[in-house]
Amino acid sequence: MYIDTHAHFDICLKESSLTEDEMLSRLKKNNLKYAVQISTEPKIFEWSYNFAKKNDGIFFTIGIHPSEEASEKDLNYVRDFIQKVIDANDADLIFGIGEIGLDYYRMHQPKDRQIQAFEYQLDAANTFKLPVIIHSREAMDDTLTILRRKSPGSGIMHCFSGNSKRAKEVLDLGFYISFAGNLTYNKAEELHDAAKYVPLDRLLLETDAPFLTPVPLRGRKNMPEYVMHTYQFLAELRNENLIKIEDNIYNNFNNIK
Ligand SMILES: [Zn+2]
Repeated sequence: MYIDTHAHFDICLKESSLTEDEMLSRLKKNNLKYAVQISTEPKIFEWSYNFAKKNDGIFFTIGIHPSEEASEKDLNYVRDFIQKVIDANDADLIFGIGEIGLDYYRMHQPKDRQIQAFEYQLDAANTFKLPVIIHSREAMDDTLTILRRKSPGSGIMHCFSGNSKRAKEVLDLGFYISFAGNLTYNKAEELHDAAKYVPLDRLLLETDAPFLTPVPLRGRKNMPEYVMHTYQFLAELRNENLIKIEDNIYNNFNNIK
């Protein structure tokens, strides 16, 4: 049984000709039992919430991506929205606060604004005792410094990129490390080393669909069910039984949510 801990269903649906029902039935057909719809900006919180509410096995996150604008009003809305879901007795559907973090590669928002929004949302995670889903691109030093200061203690470094030394720093925070489809790329040698290094009880897999399609489907738009290829790649890379990988990821997923 597979789990996709990080997918953007809203974007997948926009970019494909599939209906919501067709997309969900493909998950079932491919033995993908749980998936997390990751929010990136306030205007999709409601959509993410409803998507999780009406579909078994789907969880969702609330958070503002570092590439998106995060005004004071937007940031307050993060807290208000979480409170609204809790008041509606749907807290179980919230997987965490995310994706949040720093992106110095795209730099769509000024650095100081990114840091401010990141810290605000980490404080919210501490208030609500929710795990965080972290996006960090070319900003790992700052990300780790801030997390050491403000970490809610539980979280996921999503789409991990880095070597095993970096992986250790993330593990030292008590976080899980999630690998996306780029793990399957031939030239990703550092990432392969990191994926062999991370203990199975701290590891997760994701698609980040519609991005980062794994081999052998690279070239088309990614879909949540394609995570199976990353599972198979990881099993071979680590020379482990696939079922053992599935079981560990299932346990890790349950420990977080
Ligand atoms: Zn993402």
